[in-house]
Amino acid sequence: MRKNPWMENSIKNLIPLSAANDFKEALKEWEFTGEVIDHQIADETCELCEHEELRYHFEIINYLKLNHLWVGSSCILRFQEIVVYDESGMQLTDARTRKRELDRALKDKQVDIALQPLRILWKIDREYRKYIEMSVSHFKSKGAFTPQNLVVLCEKMHKNDIKYQPSMFPVYLRTRECKAYLRTLKDDQLNYVLQCMSSQQRERFAV
Ligand SMILES: [Zn+2]
Repeated sequence: MRKNPWMENSIKNLIPLSAANDFKEALKEWEFTGEVIDHQIADETCELCEHEELRYHFEIINYLKLNHLWVGSSCILRFQEIVVYDESGMQLTDARTRKRELDRALKDKQVDIALQPLRILWKIDREYRKYIEMSVSHFKSKGAFTPQNLVVLCEKMHKNDIKYQPSMFPVYLRTRECKAYLRTLKDDQLNYVLQCMSSQQRERFAV
């Protein structure tokens, strides 16, 4: 019988970095560290099964030998022996909660990346600290920034030469007020918001 190539690769890559020689036993020595890398483009390889075109890398560590591997989330989910803890340190055993925990780790990472340029702005612009904090708190609770907040924050980051990725600043357009506001903007202001919108949003709110 022909084996799966990803299974053969996983055995080949995992055993030398583990204490046990049996694959299933070796898997139990590994746990997800909570670290995620968003590479922005999907051109990374899973260091376990060698699957290509990954955008996100999740870190697993062998707690006996302290070896690390950057793998795809699907490998962690596929090999249930790899240990995943929740935030309180409880080991998650069913597929649904394990997936939810990996999704949460990724979301946290993306929020962290989005907030980096705003942390720089917060340090520079003392007068606007409250405003930045208020905008971030909207972002954290609703998952997106209001267009009003984005205009102010993008203008300020631009003025202070702070690099940021518009795609990491999702736009909140769920209220009439938000949509109506877009039509009051000057071209350069609207441009800031347009850059942050998803392509779906741009289509739907073409102005
Ligand atoms: Zn993999």
